[in-house]
Amino acid sequence: MRPKNQPISGNDLARFSGPNTFMRLPSVTDLKGLDVAILGIPLDIGTSWRSGTRFGPKQVRSESAMLRPYNLATGAAPFDSLQVADIGDLAINTFSLAESLRIIAESYDAILNYDAMPLAIGGDHSITLPILRAMARRHGPVALIHVDAHADVNDEMFGEKEAHGTVFRRAHEEGLINPDKTYQIGLRGTGYAAEDFEEAAGWGFQQFPAHALWHKPLTALGEEIRRDIGDRPVYLTYDIDSLDPAFAPGTGTPEVGGLTTPQALELIRAFKGLNIVGGDLVEVSPPYDTSGNTALTGANIFYEMMCVLPGVAYR
Ligand code: MN
Ligand code: MN
Repeated sequence: MRPKNQPISGNDLARFSGPNTFMRLPSVTDLKGLDVAILGIPLDIGTSWRSGTRFGPKQVRSESAMLRPYNLATGAAPFDSLQVADIGDLAINTFSLAESLRIIAESYDAILNYDAMPLAIGGDHSITLPILRAMARRHGPVALIHVDAHADVNDEMFGEKEAHGTVFRRAHEEGLINPDKTYQIGLRGTGYAAEDFEEAAGWGFQQFPAHALWHKPLTALGEEIRRDIGDRPVYLTYDIDSLDPAFAPGTGTPEVGGLTTPQALELIRAFKGLNIVGGDLVEVSPPYDTSGNTALTGANIFYEMMCVLPGVAYR
């Protein structure tokens, strides 16, 4: 068997040099034979408050140079068994959100035709709607794990049906997700109406507000979700603002009282064994990330997602 792609080691080439791919993995344009295709979607024209997520993919990749191939906590060795490469950024149209979403869906159709598992670095959360459209064409309605401070179920924003705060209402309306197998974790903040979250709960969405998770380990919740989903195809979307702004300040719509970094890791690690078919990490906004810590945390969360994919080897 051919050896798999490996990240460049920090002992072979200084971390501050080399290609700006995720973990300094090879950059490829041919998706043949890839198990996992890492891509960037540098878009921030779906945001409603602070912008800057167009710089997310570049900065998350840059901070990922700190990551090493083995997960010492879980034993996961993703590069032992999976062929992983960075396929670069999608060529979105930064003047047109509608056109960008069309480009994303079309690109995902092509990626999924290669049987490569797409893992995307956003970008604001509006990227996830066209991704789910492509996922549903491929897999039918998917289970959805959505970690976020926000439910993103607005009907419209400034009259627009497609924006980063409307994604999961559209996904529900379009039948892209299985509402009874949709889990929203980390919800919080102030609302426009007292019943902001109730409508989505009525569709079947299972919601876990942040305040109910304060001071608690999230392993049990993650395991419960895993059991509830079973072997259904599941898409994992991770909004960095699910974390408390103390841990992830560099984001567009921060909300206090969020998850801790250890909780984020516990949750993802409990998803080992799920039939994950794709995932994304969204809403890292480098201009608001003065220490670089948000992008670093984002890179680690992205790596942890990779560590629970089907087919990952363990040592
Ligand atoms: Mn979101
Ligand atoms: Mn959010």
